[in-house]
Amino acid sequence: MALPKYAFFQNKIVPYSEAKVGILTHGLNYGTGIFGGIRGYWNDEEKQLFIFRPIDHFQRFLESTRLLRMEFSYTREEVVQKLIELIQKEDLHEDCYVRPLAFYADEIIGVRLHNVTPMLTISVLPFGRYLEKEEGAHVTISSWRRIDDNVIPARGKITGGYVNSALAKTDANLSGFDEAILLNQDGHISEGSAENVFIMRKGKIVTPPVTDNILEGITRNSMITLLRDELGMEVVERSIDRTEVYLAEEAFLVATGAQIVAITRVDHRKLGSGLMGPVTQKLRDLYFDVVRGRVPKYRQWCYPVYGK
Ligand code: PMP
Repeated sequence: MALPKYAFFQNKIVPYSEAKVGILTHGLNYGTGIFGGIRGYWNDEEKQLFIFRPIDHFQRFLESTRLLRMEFSYTREEVVQKLIELIQKEDLHEDCYVRPLAFYADEIIGVRLHNVTPMLTISVLPFGRYLEKEEGAHVTISSWRRIDDNVIPARGKITGGYVNSALAKTDANLSGFDEAILLNQDGHISEGSAENVFIMRKGKIVTPPVTDNILEGITRNSMITLLRDELGMEVVERSIDRTEVYLAEEAFLVATGAQIVAITRVDHRKLGSGLMGPVTQKLRDLYFDVVRGRVPKYRQWCYPVYGK
């Protein structure tokens, strides 16, 4: 993966090679950071790069920073402006991925969230698929449990919390699965290592509620809207048992990085026909049109980088 040319660092755009921290940095030692992940989609007809729902992403990002007691004076709109300047400087004209990161930057010893100073950085790089098998993934229910709201809140995109995701993901991959789904402490489905989960049972779409230790995904929110308003589906937010996933007619993972991934097998059980289901297929086609700015009704989700 090629590195970016520039980064937003210490309140200005600098060459990426200058955006460095020391090994004693608090966030690096104790996982006291918040990150985000936003996609940009190149629209070749319009020669425009559209960033997908950046205001909503930075809203969640800034909310997550509050969980760690970070105080920033930036508004979401100001951060989006910094991002646009960075992408213009980077001169990207292809699909890309934006990585905002806030972390406690002090080079000190001491586990705490007070008397420490946060720093905001942003980088952006060309990006393709996050999961190879978007059209048909084999997932496993992990033996690792999802971090609980009273342990490390999954609602916040906290860097240290992603050790939980990494444990589940690597065990799944090394056992031959494409992705892991984690159960929460009470045994219900929470989410994938970096994706929210949807299943279809008896013709209804079901997804775990935000109180089941999930990240409140922007893609999850977009999909609920598209399923209800464009595909006319009923979408229910309720706790899901593990075996409901085994019996689902269709299931899919959604996230900024993963986009929409059809789950076609779970723990060596075929879902439906064993191929991507028709609802997943329709939603996928629609989503890719929406994110590239091709659906006028959802054009407000697409933030143009150039010519502003
Ligand atoms: N859950 C987890 C654990 C994630 O890391 C992500 C990716 N950010 C998601 C869900 C999906 O969130 P979003 O749609 O906002 O990218």
